Amino acid sequence: MKLDQVCFRTSHLSPSWTLEAYRQVGGYQVLENILSNKLKPESIIEQIKNSALRGRGGAGFPTGLKWSFMPRRLPGDKYIVCNSDEGEPGTCKDRDILRFNPHQVIEGMIIAGYTIGAQTGYNYIRGEFYEPIERFEAALEEARQAGYLGKDILDSGFNFQLHTHIGAGAYICGEETALLESLEGKKGQPRYKPPFPAGYGLYGRPTTINNTESLASIPVILQHGADWFHDLGTPNNGGSKIFCMTGHVNKPGNYEVPLGTPFAELLELAGGVRYGHQLKAVIPGGSSTPVVPADIMMGLDMSYDGIAKARSMLGAGSVIVMDDSTCMVKALQRIAYFYYEESCGQCTPCREGTGWLYRVVKRIEEGQGRQEDLDRLVDVAENINGNTICALGDAAAAPVVSFIKHFRDEFQYHIDHGRCMDNTA
Ligand code: SF4
Repeated sequence: MKLDQVCFRTSHLSPSWTLEAYRQVGGYQVLENILSNKLKPESIIEQIKNSALRGRGGAGFPTGLKWSFMPRRLPGDKYIVCNSDEGEPGTCKDRDILRFNPHQVIEGMIIAGYTIGAQTGYNYIRGEFYEPIERFEAALEEARQAGYLGKDILDSGFNFQLHTHIGAGAYICGEETALLESLEGKKGQPRYKPPFPAGYGLYGRPTTINNTESLASIPVILQHGADWFHDLGTPNNGGSKIFCMTGHVNKPGNYEVPLGTPFAELLELAGGVRYGHQLKAVIPGGSSTPVVPADIMMGLDMSYDGIAKARSMLGAGSVIVMDDSTCMVKALQRIAYFYYEESCGQCTPCREGTGWLYRVVKRIEEGQGRQEDLDRLVDVAENINGNTICALGDAAAAPVVSFIKHFRDEFQYHIDHGRCMDNTA
């Protein structure tokens, strides 16, 4: 095992997804240690806090702090939910964790359940992930047979059941409260917050929701220690992170590297920009994060704080690389269509605004743009931003503002000439 590999630490084994493979890297030893020594949940939370693990689903919220919000001593049901509804354009990491190392997610969820006082867990998996679902289900069965799930686990007195829930294709169900609504069998629409899930979550009970990669990191942090994990990355950005390298690179795929790795090195790992083209721009964290021009991006490191220097976000680590053949108007049109299509329609600025954004960008791309359109786009985006129930509205607005800010001349050329600047896209 390469020491900087956290979630893909069984990748040198074949097959890598079985209980046997997981045990070869020390799998379930942390759980056994916690249960046999009856470790105090507070000490586990302290270790997770000290590791500087930040939520890998996109928001980057400190995982230990999130766990500390749970009223673990409150009597009655409490839940741990794993968010494997990975649907952000450019993101393809959680499905590979489930495909290649599902036991680590299971162990992470059992430990999380023990720590926050939950006896039931759900893994909400995107419905299109056929192979990952199969592998996770098979791993669940192996874990049950081995006595890691069920009643009185390893004679500790701790009970924990874990279930798979298969999503039905709505991007918005990756938003944590929409996910809870969907789990309850309702239409997947986000809830107003507050109350937050730690107080009022699944079936109105305290619930913690973590991303797949976050939960898969837990056993390794507790196995090697909070300091080890913290020191893999940079201060406040602990650990390694899977980066989904997509777009115009020679070797697209998932790369797990320490947080703080320079973007230039990550790009090289992915084989560089395809066919010898020049880098034009990068969307560093998935389609909802602001685009960053090449000259700025090449000077950044891949950490939450590093990417924030360019007023963008690390997000889920979904790096979309665009070379010099890219028409930025066309690229924005595709992104705008996605959010227009996926808006749940619950609140007006998002439901109406995403349609406005898409239609105006589309007419610019098709050579029908009007001079006032650029200011109108920014105005609509700014009126969506911060005025909606969930973050999808902000996610739709951010690309529009950043594309026009950095590539206004291309949009202007489309309006003036009715076509692309270099006519190659
Ligand atoms: Fe639905 Fe959009 Fe409002 Fe979110 S912001 S609740 S997706 S309409």
